[in-house]
Amino acid sequence: MTAFEELKEYLFSLTIIDTHEHLPSSEEVRDRDTDVLKEYLAHYFNRDLISAGLPEEDYLKIIEEKMPIGEKWKMVEPYWEASRHTGYARVLDIAARDLYGIDGIGGETIEELNEKFLESLKPGHFKKVLKERCSIETSLLCVETLEEKYDPLEERSIHCDRDLYTPVFIINTYVHPGGWPDIRRVERESGVRITSFNAWLDATEASIDYAVQEGSCILKNSLAYVRSLNYETVTRREAEEAFNVVFNTKHIPDWHQQPAWPAKPFQDYMFHFILDIANRNNLIMQIHTGIQEGSGNLISNSNPEYLDKLILKYPDVVFDLFHIGYPYQNIVTVLAKNFPNVYIDMCWAHIVSPNASVLSLLEWFDTVPVNKISAFGGDYLFIDGVYGHQFLARENVARALSMKVEDGLFDIHRAKEIGKMLFYDNPKRIFRL
Ligand SMILES: [Zn+2]
Repeated sequence: MTAFEELKEYLFSLTIIDTHEHLPSSEEVRDRDTDVLKEYLAHYFNRDLISAGLPEEDYLKIIEEKMPIGEKWKMVEPYWEASRHTGYARVLDIAARDLYGIDGIGGETIEELNEKFLESLKPGHFKKVLKERCSIETSLLCVETLEEKYDPLEERSIHCDRDLYTPVFIINTYVHPGGWPDIRRVERESGVRITSFNAWLDATEASIDYAVQEGSCILKNSLAYVRSLNYETVTRREAEEAFNVVFNTKHIPDWHQQPAWPAKPFQDYMFHFILDIANRNNLIMQIHTGIQEGSGNLISNSNPEYLDKLILKYPDVVFDLFHIGYPYQNIVTVLAKNFPNVYIDMCWAHIVSPNASVLSLLEWFDTVPVNKISAFGGDYLFIDGVYGHQFLARENVARALSMKVEDGLFDIHRAKEIGKMLFYDNPKRIFRL
């Protein structure tokens, strides 16, 4: 047995922690009016297909219209073949193979795959995939808004299946509210009437307090999709002025064009305000850095080098940097090396680029303490993707570790110990699970 084979066998036997998911909050609420292409092309691989030339209109037909699965396949086939070797594509082939016994997704197999996929819509599939097939102890789940946690009839409770998930509270709306609909939502979520900028600060604090009370010490900022990670130090007055530009439009009727969002000084101030709360309560802040999902965005907005100021200023916040910052992984490496409160999170990374993930691991074994890396977060909207992703993650980590064993940096026993730290011990400790 080679070192790679031995490490692969060992890593595939481990129970692991999943640091990041967007799955339905419970199996009951999953979309059942679906087919295998609608589900598998909900995100990620659809972007490779569009990049390869699939027209957007054809993509929308696949997602929105009912038609025989063979017809849908014909629309995507040339682009699928062109993208077949990307990490996103490999995940789908692995899931089809191991969950449904289908050898390669293609024109010959798509009908059978779809039939088997439709059978998996029966209750029990989530537990089977996450627990039995992936051996995931818990998955950190993004609860998109606090509102989801509120049952209007019952007392408030964080709404997700706690047998499968641990909730993470997304703070985006509090930093970057999209005009009045979001302001009203914050009122409902926090129970605080927004009458001023001061009230907005009170509402923010109330919502975070509630999330913490309900067992979520993990917050998440994914605003690098819409703005830069450069959160500057601004005065309260500048922030309040920016807030009032939107706040003073309350009289504008719904049918009239509504204001967008408060300008950057407000956003900057609010993220500092939230980090200050997090710093006082020793909370964890997961931050999206690097590549944005979707077709086309400003990649420079996701550059993590701007985070150094925040990391210095709030030493009692645990900063968990997502997606290895790809393509800025070297910057993430230096941040994790130099700051005790920065950790590297490989969520999404193994499928964005299996190769960059292996190379980054090789780099980190030379530069970063091994207790600072979490090896896996599925980051999927649909359940079968998690299976394919954890498969690639275990394989990539085995590959990188085995290369260092062959180089003589450490022996196979130490390699196994490091593998278990990356997949289990580190996330368990970092996220206090
Ligand atoms: Zn995500």
